[in-house]
Amino acid sequence: MVELGRIYWTRQGLRLAYSAVMVWLALSLVTALMPQAIHIPGTSPSTPGEVLRGLADGVVAAVTLPGLAVVVLGILAAVVNSRDVRRRDPVRRFTRQQRREGMVRAGGGCELEVGFGRRCGRPAEHGDHFYPWSKGGSSSLQNFVAACARCNRTKRARIPSPGQQQRLERRRREYVTSATSVSVGERQPLP
Ligand SMILES: [Zn+2]
Repeated sequence: MVELGRIYWTRQGLRLAYSAVMVWLALSLVTALMPQAIHIPGTSPSTPGEVLRGLADGVVAAVTLPGLAVVVLGILAAVVNSRDVRRRDPVRRFTRQQRREGMVRAGGGCELEVGFGRRCGRPAEHGDHFYPWSKGGSSSLQNFVAACARCNRTKRARIPSPGQQQRLERRRREYVTSATSVSVGERQPLP
């Protein structure tokens, strides 16, 4: 079973940090471009060239630090992404056998959640990777969830939260009758 806590929160943290840094960058830029309210007599630049140069210096000084932070976060995101790609399972599709077992385990109904953590339960048409294949999720029965067409479309390749994983496992305890495990999610190891 994949431990979603660290993976999920690392990525949420990166996303949040990126948004914060973009706001910081925008605010720094706006502040640097605002007309200076304080006028110190004798120091005001006289020619338009000096005004422009002063403005450019101010902008460069203001955006250096947030700009650097954007670059660092960009590098981190690229590292995370390349590791996801390296993890990808060479087999993308579930086998006929996995699909059959997965559908039986789900009782033929969609296992994903609709509002308030309730089970969707519409007739399942697809086998979905709970941990997305594109992010390194395994094409295994452990990572198989039965999904209806609508849930399959809305789920996309987002990494599920630890809460979604817990709730799915809790719901499975109510309908999984065979000896198979209720635990869900599997990620490929780094090669
Ligand atoms: Zn559904």
